[in-house]
Amino acid sequence: MPLPVWNEFNAGTMVRGALWLMQVVGEGNTFTKEQLREAFPGVSQVDRRIRDLRDYGWVLYTNSDDATLMAEDQRFVKAGVPVWDSAARRAAAPQKAISSKEKQAAMARDDYMCSVCGISGGEAYVDDSNQTAVLSVTRRETVLPNGQERTLLITECKRCRAGSDRLPARADETVADIRALDPSDQRRLLRWIERGRRGSTPLDRAWNAYRRLPADARDEVRTALES
Ligand SMILES: [Zn+2]
Repeated sequence: MPLPVWNEFNAGTMVRGALWLMQVVGEGNTFTKEQLREAFPGVSQVDRRIRDLRDYGWVLYTNSDDATLMAEDQRFVKAGVPVWDSAARRAAAPQKAISSKEKQAAMARDDYMCSVCGISGGEAYVDDSNQTAVLSVTRRETVLPNGQERTLLITECKRCRAGSDRLPARADETVADIRALDPSDQRRLLRWIERGRRGSTPLDRAWNAYRRLPADARDEVRTALES
């Protein structure tokens, strides 16, 4: 089904703003407040209506998220829920806001680090020093090992949030994968879980020792093992 045309569609500002982002700005591109005001003349607080899209999984960066942006610029990073589809919009209607107390507790529990990539809040990304991590606490649908579905809080950086497929987290599948490991690997994993970090295995150490060898010596190792 083709998208409704942004300036012909009879809908609220947030919905028309979403279509404007899709049809005029385009994912990955930047726009200014001025362009927004020109597109929606006379609409008060159009900027705020566009920001409301974040509650529907839309990712918009300002220069506090990406230092390469000018103060006037925002980047439309990624579209979220197709809010012009009223059924999809209703299904995704923002739930009660997460209280600041809940956010604080979740961040403290996650050691003020992104649960996905491990970066700390305010830290620059290794591959892009123009961007520093902004952490937020979001809800994540989660299937527990007993099959029950729960909505749980997770600390994520904006980049991981933008890259997420928003599929439910599957603790049940994780348990099944772990149970399928050799008993010795299961015991090792349990030790890592108790310590809260991964240890190196004899296999890791052997691989690293092999990788550090001069190339000709690596060939010799390979020949020795294959004979
Ligand atoms: Zn991250």
